[in-house]
Amino acid sequence: MARPVLVVEDDREIRDLVRRYLERAGHAVHTTGSGAEALRLLDTADPAVLVLDLGLPDIDGLTVLAAARDGRQVPVVVLTARSAVEDRIDGLRRGADDYVTKPFSPTELVLRIEAVLHRTRGAQAERVVTSYGAGRLQVDEARHEVRLDGVVLDLTPTEWGLVTALCSAPGRVYSRYELVNRVRGYEFAGYERTIDSHVKNLRHKLGPDAARIVETVLGVGYRLGWSRDE
Ligand code: CA
Repeated sequence: MARPVLVVEDDREIRDLVRRYLERAGHAVHTTGSGAEALRLLDTADPAVLVLDLGLPDIDGLTVLAAARDGRQVPVVVLTARSAVEDRIDGLRRGADDYVTKPFSPTELVLRIEAVLHRTRGAQAERVVTSYGAGRLQVDEARHEVRLDGVVLDLTPTEWGLVTALCSAPGRVYSRYELVNRVRGYEFAGYERTIDSHVKNLRHKLGPDAARIVETVLGVGYRLGWSRDE
């Protein structure tokens, strides 16, 4: 099944309008008016592209934008009433792939979304697999796969987030707080401690070398113990 377009917009009329036009163009669509729900859907709905209103009632749209880009690499089309040129540049610099200012033509929006999908599909096909520990650990962003000794690991979205965060800078120590932010895109109370149980589950899947792959740095956090292959 094709990966859906995730539409995050708190204005119900606009949300329904965008959904209608996208569905008419043959896309599967998920919608929400909440930023917190959007963060959850980024992990559970596996969207091919995110259409994001920056002015959300619960959390800042830029937080959702950062979460989509960071680790997950979901392309983003920003939708906003803020029409100032500086906002436009700021949004694009933070990683939006395109930017549509309200009021907009829904037909144009669909075309822009499809252009972003087309561009990123090409880029994903070319993306190289990164490997660590002399080829033993491989992270394939395009296929969303982690392989250890050639075997694909069955990871939860949180475990995938942990692996990609640690692998983005081998040897660098990440605090639990940083990992929560990398994995979930934003902070929420009490979650910091649960990182330990996710690491425990991840290590279980990594087998006998787990403690050397994901190293504990006492009193600080975790780091990738293996170095990246050239
Ligand atoms: Ca809004």
